[in-house]
Amino acid sequence: MELDTSPHLKDFREEARTWLEENVPGERRPESDGPEVREYDAEWHRRQYEGGWAGIDWEPEYGGRGLSLIEQVVWYEELVRAKAPGRGIFSVAFGHAGPTLIVRGSEQQKAFHLPKILKGETPWCQGFSEPDAGSDLASLRTRGVVDGDELVITGSKIWTSYAQWCDYGELLVRTDPDASKHKGLTWLIMDMRLPGVDIRPITSIDGWPHNCEVFYDEVRVPLTSVVDRIDNGWSVAMSTLAAERGPGFLDQRLELIVMVDELIDHARGTGLLRDDAVADRLADARAAAAALRSMAYYQVSTAKKGESPGAETTAIRAFTVQLQEQLTRLAIDILGAGALEWHPWTRRWLVDFAAPIAGGTKDILKNIIGERVQGLPR
Ligand SMILES: Cc1cc2nc3c(=O)[nH]c(=O)nc-3n(C[C@H](O)[C@H](O)[C@H](O)COP(=O)(O)OP(=O)(O)OC[C@H]3O[C@@H](n4cnc5c(N)ncnc54)[C@H](O)[C@@H]3O)c2cc1C
Repeated sequence: MELDTSPHLKDFREEARTWLEENVPGERRPESDGPEVREYDAEWHRRQYEGGWAGIDWEPEYGGRGLSLIEQVVWYEELVRAKAPGRGIFSVAFGHAGPTLIVRGSEQQKAFHLPKILKGETPWCQGFSEPDAGSDLASLRTRGVVDGDELVITGSKIWTSYAQWCDYGELLVRTDPDASKHKGLTWLIMDMRLPGVDIRPITSIDGWPHNCEVFYDEVRVPLTSVVDRIDNGWSVAMSTLAAERGPGFLDQRLELIVMVDELIDHARGTGLLRDDAVADRLADARAAAAALRSMAYYQVSTAKKGESPGAETTAIRAFTVQLQEQLTRLAIDILGAGALEWHPWTRRWLVDFAAPIAGGTKDILKNIIGERVQGLPR
């Protein structure tokens, strides 16, 4: 399938490719838990902003380029082709915090936050999940009590990815404890540096502290931080999840397609491609990657027509997660004993154990497909 349907898009791709050849950082992202991780990611995003490549489909008044999602996807394709660093700790900011503010934020919130995101100045995290509220997110208990022109936040969140490096968080809190479960929630912009915020990193299976527990002890947040309005947070959270499961992470989907080509090259180079079992699995993976690319383009065309993403977004996410598991398993089998030498695919395999959990487990995704696509009873 060809995305470059016009000379303009061909030129745009060429321009992107040339810029990336000259600007992708030569040095690898640091494998540390110190501030250099933030510095590396911030510098890469700043460079993209200065080159005019940040927020390609965001409005120019907020620092974007005002182009369409198609140009954005061409940019993603070129990014993964150039093996450029990913979004790193800016993944929430670009993937769903910014998009949520674009559709639900006030003018003041957009004018203040969106340019800072695009310039790589302010990484964001997502404070939705709690110890007893993951799949059943609406059961969350972290409280927000209105006191004058402030909200006072008390409670705890878990699995808040990259919280230790972030300036802001998307925080979902209960502001009306008497309302039914999905009502009485509020989505607010949390300044992660406020007094009373206690961030405790959790080391993951790959030895890196990706996720955190975050405790909020009477943290006072101005009411101007509320997005949309008090008690309407569930609806705002749906906008966040729609971005998270939809176009917000197209770049990560495209990255999987590139990974299939890398696996094939590796298997060819090591002679493993002559093994019929390996060749069969790679052929399967290549077919799945082609299907994923078509789904990604379908999503772009739906969004471009202004249609709101339906339950098929969930199906595409479920397919992505399945392919991710299939590919990283295949990568480890292809590497064989080489996987023990801490190949980048080894880390990826370890990290991807979480893929069917993060952002909604694959069981929950299947429930949504069953109920909303197939019309099965709850
Ligand atoms: C790497 C990683 C990063 C994350 N990052 C963030 C983050 O940045 N911010 C954030 O807020 N959260 C984050 N999360 C949390 C994630 O959203 C939750 O872990 C996820 O929603 C599942 O919730 P839970 O862990 O409470 O599991 P539970 O909801 O307790 O589920 C346990 C098991 O029961 C199954 N299950 C539960 N309910 C049903 C049902 N109705 N039908 C069928 N099966 C069901 C689940 O599929 C799962 O297998 C992250 C998680 C991971 C692993």
